[in-house]
Amino acid sequence: MAALQVPPGRVMIATKVYPTQSHSGAAQGGFNAAMAEADSVEGHAADTIKGSDYLADQDAVDTMCSEAPEVILQLDRLGVMWSRTGAGRIAQRALGGSSYARACYAADMSGHVVLQTLYEQVLRADIPLLVEWHLLALLVEDERVAGAVFWDLPAGRLRTVRAAVVILATGGYGRVYAKSTNGLGSTGDGVAISYRAGAVLSDLEFVQFHPTTLVGTNILISEGARGEGGYLRNAAGERFMARYARDAMELAPRDIVSRAIASEIRDGRAFSGGYVHLDLTHLGSDIIEQRLPQVRKLARVYAGVDIAHDQLPVEPAQHYSMGGIRTDVSGQTSLPGLLAAGECANVSVHGANRLGGNSLLETVVFGRRAGRRAADAASQLGRAEAKQSWARFGDDWNSRFDPRTDLQRDAHNVVRLRRALTEVMTRRVGVFRRADEMSAAAGDIRMLREEYRSLGVAPPTGPFDYRLIAHWELGFLLDVAEVVAGGALRRTESRGAHFRTDHPRRDDRRWLQHTFARRTPDGPQFQDGEVRLGRLAPEARVY
Ligand SMILES: Cc1cc2nc3c(=O)[nH]c(=O)nc-3n(C[C@H](O)[C@H](O)[C@H](O)COP(=O)(O)OP(=O)(O)OC[C@H]3O[C@@H](n4cnc5c(N)ncnc54)[C@H](O)[C@@H]3O)c2cc1C
Repeated sequence: MAALQVPPGRVMIATKVYPTQSHSGAAQGGFNAAMAEADSVEGHAADTIKGSDYLADQDAVDTMCSEAPEVILQLDRLGVMWSRTGAGRIAQRALGGSSYARACYAADMSGHVVLQTLYEQVLRADIPLLVEWHLLALLVEDERVAGAVFWDLPAGRLRTVRAAVVILATGGYGRVYAKSTNGLGSTGDGVAISYRAGAVLSDLEFVQFHPTTLVGTNILISEGARGEGGYLRNAAGERFMARYARDAMELAPRDIVSRAIASEIRDGRAFSGGYVHLDLTHLGSDIIEQRLPQVRKLARVYAGVDIAHDQLPVEPAQHYSMGGIRTDVSGQTSLPGLLAAGECANVSVHGANRLGGNSLLETVVFGRRAGRRAADAASQLGRAEAKQSWARFGDDWNSRFDPRTDLQRDAHNVVRLRRALTEVMTRRVGVFRRADEMSAAAGDIRMLREEYRSLGVAPPTGPFDYRLIAHWELGFLLDVAEVVAGGALRRTESRGAHFRTDHPRRDDRRWLQHTFARRTPDGPQFQDGEVRLGRLAPEARVY
């Protein structure tokens, strides 16, 4: 969306996977927008702020919610095949935490359809695509971004691109966890790279766990399934959500439903092996086929279950990265020349907990704004020299390789360290958190970092050397994990997705604050950041 705002001939897109394979293509449920007469932008904003447990910046939420209907119509004009009502209006469905059925959708392939449409528009605009170019670092000269360094995987060589402005839209850091709905490439690259370049990160401790993922594979079963009327049942067949969110039941926000399932598992009311059931059988085959065809297919292929007749085994898993690179509502980061949008950014619309349907919306609203801002900024800034930073990068790059290391040992070490890291995060910085566990996690991460630094890396072997990519991604994950665990340990309260069994209450007096993190040679330096309140004062969050 950002690239389409820039005049032709002045923009390029680099991506580590083919654009249509970006994670957005996996999104099923939809995009929130107050389109119906009985709905309102204020209602959308109020639900978002309440969902965020009052940590969202209310001006950013207002911006997103007020631009939402226009962006949905723009996507419609660009060719998105939204599902429609019998009267021809764009159809909308309920997702968790919303007081109105306001998610616009394209069956249960919403992300796929929008991604394909935007891709076609990029082709139509003749925007050059640098495919399987992996961003490794930003070039920063005189405290301003002057370009970027990539590993061109198909060619097996380094590339530099000088640019007046760089927009990062590199997605989330979900793969810092072992159990995650995210693709294996969601390794927080842009978050770590901007942090290394000096940008401020915010609120990384807020990690969303999705309540309904397939047991074992953690493939997501869309909230649309509960939106269409699915029930959650424990091993006794009980609809247990009545215990946790009496009114909203299965349509409570994700943090509440995830904790409810985790509590059922912890208290011995789940199936042995640690899971509960999602029951859609009462909906009937016709509704399922019409509104949840992909969910039915995923369940058949990956769990061997036909949801029209049988209940589906589900468990919570990491799903979304609420924190990211701190930006303003135009995508500007703390580093001149660097903008960010989408899941890698933190403009602070989701606060401590994101509502379903607000993330795809965030990517298009703030992607569009970042593109417009970049077009303006580029014409004022012009391109800078990047000689010194390129030389620094080159020295660092060369110092990493050791010709005595063999490829097999290299790969083995990376796999081992990545597994150890992601298991520590899942076990110790998960749905329920406690100081002693998180201190232990911080110590583990420090040790893994030391080991990572001391790894000898065999020099590049030529085209498609995925081993190198795996090595770099592990470095990004370690940086991000350190900030997630450190921020979570520091925040001695429970808010949204961050739940501390040793501090089970929200503490507005001390913690109505963002967590800002900057990189130092000794690790992250944390600082409080003011939350911009607006019309809505914080109150108890009850569903
Ligand atoms: C299974 C699933 C279902 C979801 N369903 C919904 C939903 O229904 N509604 C909703 O609102 N949200 C949903 N979400 C969340 C939403 O899909 C994501 O937050 C959103 O799509 C993120 O978009 P993005 O453009 O920021 O990142 P992505 O779509 O993840 O794209 C990241 C891009 O960055 C590139 N990249 C990353 N690192 C590098 C690098 N080092 N060098 C070069 N390129 C790089 C990748 O190649 C990719 O093209 C869902 C998420 C998942 C996982």
